[in-house]
Amino acid sequence: MERPDPKFAIIGAGMSGILAAVKLQEAGLEFTIFEKADKVGGTWRENTYPGIACDVPSHIYSYSFELNPEWNYFASPGSEVQSYFEGVVDKYGIDAHIRFGEAVTRADWDESDGGGWQVETAGGFSGRFDWVIAATGVLHHPKMPDIEGLDDFDGDMFHSAQWDHDVELDGKRIALVGTGSTGTQITGALGPRAGKLSLFQRTAQWVVPMEQVAYSEDEKQAFRTDADLLKDLHQELSNSFHTGFASQIIDAGTSFTTDMEAVCNEVLENKVTDPTLREKLRPNYTLGCKRLVVSHNFYDAVQLPSVELVTDGIERIEADGIRTDDGRLHEVDIIVLATGFHVDRFMRPMDIVGANGLVLDDVWSERPSAYLALGIHGFPNFFMLNGPNSPVGNFSLIATAEMQMNYIMQLVDLWRSGQAECVHPADEAAARFEDERVEAAKKTVWATGCRSWYLDDRGIPFAWPFPFDRFQAEMAEPKLGDYVTTL
Ligand code: NAP
Repeated sequence: MERPDPKFAIIGAGMSGILAAVKLQEAGLEFTIFEKADKVGGTWRENTYPGIACDVPSHIYSYSFELNPEWNYFASPGSEVQSYFEGVVDKYGIDAHIRFGEAVTRADWDESDGGGWQVETAGGFSGRFDWVIAATGVLHHPKMPDIEGLDDFDGDMFHSAQWDHDVELDGKRIALVGTGSTGTQITGALGPRAGKLSLFQRTAQWVVPMEQVAYSEDEKQAFRTDADLLKDLHQELSNSFHTGFASQIIDAGTSFTTDMEAVCNEVLENKVTDPTLREKLRPNYTLGCKRLVVSHNFYDAVQLPSVELVTDGIERIEADGIRTDDGRLHEVDIIVLATGFHVDRFMRPMDIVGANGLVLDDVWSERPSAYLALGIHGFPNFFMLNGPNSPVGNFSLIATAEMQMNYIMQLVDLWRSGQAECVHPADEAAARFEDERVEAAKKTVWATGCRSWYLDDRGIPFAWPFPFDRFQAEMAEPKLGDYVTTL
């Protein structure tokens, strides 16, 4: 039975959701995007902290079908990235398909009438769709730190992903907790503005230098007029990132990490003049174990007279500031918590109920996992972009989502042509992938002994542990034997 008019629900209008919409539109298919906020952009809409920028080259951080000659910087500020996504939505007329302010609360698989998903939102919408594409992001649910006295502070306090722009920053005494990619970017921006910035570092970071290079008008004009130039640049940057850097960095025990450690150590030596501060900033674990920090200004900012790097442990938060375990009270007006995200939530807390009443929360009660990072056994016609075990942090998220969407479209074609009544990974295939993934994960640099958001509750890295070419090969064509295709 051919299916001429299938309906798709896309959850989330961030980078992956917009991509899904463009691809479904291109295929002439009907879709609705459910977006809980009132704007597109996902992480780039949510994160508006001072200093936010993309720390991978802008020309990689672009859809391959929508290269952008207008990037102003080699690595662009967050506002430019947000405008880029808004521009793509405008250009493709995606807006008309988005239900803004509609948080999906549940989705139930209903086997009647050939199977479909009943999707409900907090706003009272309820509708049936043939397929669901969850594009809900990974670094999405802010994580408050487990620090005593969080509610006792009398000043302003917020998470980096929930920035309160009404709070005046200039000249203020600011405590910044966290030195991940976010905390280091905020340090670069707030160091020169704060009266005093107390930066609370629990673990030193490997900081890879990247100059902040602006594209000249001539360069942008060349990109505008020569599409091949832009395409070649995208390809060249993608190749060197994926098959050079990204694939090597996850492989524990290669000389690549030691070579990079040498480069970073040299930058640390040359840039940080005070030997005591330098040693506080020197990491004591293998480079790449935590997500690398890429920065052009962190070491400069941390040496400003207005900035103090605090490495004593935080004992508690009090009405007037942060008390460290040496007994000192760091009195501040504002506390910024750049303490990361719950990376194991994905679509949750939505209630997703698959075939035979299978509840996603139960399936994922220990930890989330997905066959090839895309699908879950028992959840027919339900696929994720940048879901669990996706190469988050090692490959370009956009390239990843594009390959995943191309793969999903092949499954959609199979179902549309009537060759499949429904599509979801077979239990054995999912288990086989999970076993292989876990074994490979143990050999990655992420498992060499450090605390990071890559590790699951067992201490096993959850991200895609194989090289880029394996991902490319897997995404090129679904292995149909790995799927259940009957109701
Ligand atoms: P993160 O990498 O998880 O860093 C959280 C920071 O908070 C760490 O320094 C952590 O210390 C510290 N922390 C957490 N709980 C603490 C506590 N109780 N006491 C003291 N310190 C505590 O979070 P993030 O910096 O927001 O970055 C998350 C990811 O977002 C990045 O790794 C990256 O993938 C992405 N990101 C990307 C960009 C970009 O430019 N593309 C920018 C920002 C973020 P420990 O290190 O000791 O755990």
